[in-house]
Amino acid sequence: MMAPQKRSAEEAESLLVGVRSIVFDIEGTTTPISFVKDTLFPYVRNNIDGFLTKNFENAEVQKAITALRDLATKEKEEKVEGAVEIPGGDASKEDVVKAVSENVKWQMDGDRKTTELKALQGLIWKDAYESKEVKGELFEDVGPMLKMLAEEGVQLYVFSSGSVEAQKLLFANSSQGDLTDVFSGHFDTTTGSKTESASYKKIAAEIGNEPKDILFLTDIPEEAEAAVAGGLRSALVIRPGNADLTDEHLQNFACIERFDELYGDEDDEDDIKRFAGDNGEADDDDDDEDEGDEDDEEGEGDNDDDDENPDDI
Ligand SMILES: [Mg+2]
Repeated sequence: MMAPQKRSAEEAESLLVGVRSIVFDIEGTTTPISFVKDTLFPYVRNNIDGFLTKNFENAEVQKAITALRDLATKEKEEKVEGAVEIPGGDASKEDVVKAVSENVKWQMDGDRKTTELKALQGLIWKDAYESKEVKGELFEDVGPMLKMLAEEGVQLYVFSSGSVEAQKLLFANSSQGDLTDVFSGHFDTTTGSKTESASYKKIAAEIGNEPKDILFLTDIPEEAEAAVAGGLRSALVIRPGNADLTDEHLQNFACIERFDELYGDEDDEDDIKRFAGDNGEADDDDDDEDEGDEDDEEGEGDNDDDDENPDDI
């Protein structure tokens, strides 16, 4: 495999000319793909029993359990292999917790993305973020660049297959602080699939910009193609841990490894430091929480995850 042939910085400079809004993908773009696989999913497995026991009487938790029970009953009737039933009625709390936990782990083993599963996962992650046991992981350039772009009047949005609520939690409880205010809005797959152009047309209509004035940033070429088919601009983001891009994709799209490359201008290094804000840490190389390791930029892109769509929170 050849080293990625990125377009030059001069070309990248044109990426922001006339852009009024930027729409960001999350996994593989602002956040390592491994965050979901190595942090969020294991958190659910390791904490579900305790979470259910502690929050069993909570109305939202009960609603999520009921939904999982109804799904399991339906799937048992349909003879779905391995479906784990959840007792209702007069079953003890312990038995229900145990069955829900088994059901959730069985669904996760099969990499299922059912609405019922996502609902309970979402409640567990909310608890994890709010108790500060989990922080939304961001590549080191993300926070400072989002602040800078917002400050410059560019409207920022998210389009991810993670629910809008999950997106907000990640950015509100990020490793770089609360970034809630930089965003003008959030979109998830209730708007449509990320690989269909209609979704991007809808987003443009909701944002209220001409599609051509909106830039979509993602790691997945099929999503970039759909955005372009919807009339938007798009650039591919190459991050450590992402799947390799083909030469064709590298040729067809502008590709960036850091958001400051949107400017194609070295002077912006200083701007980024300036916009790192009061804590001033975001661009420091000694940042010990840093996930977006600059030293790894060469030869990265190995991805042992065969998941076609890594955006799966
Ligand atoms: Mg992605």
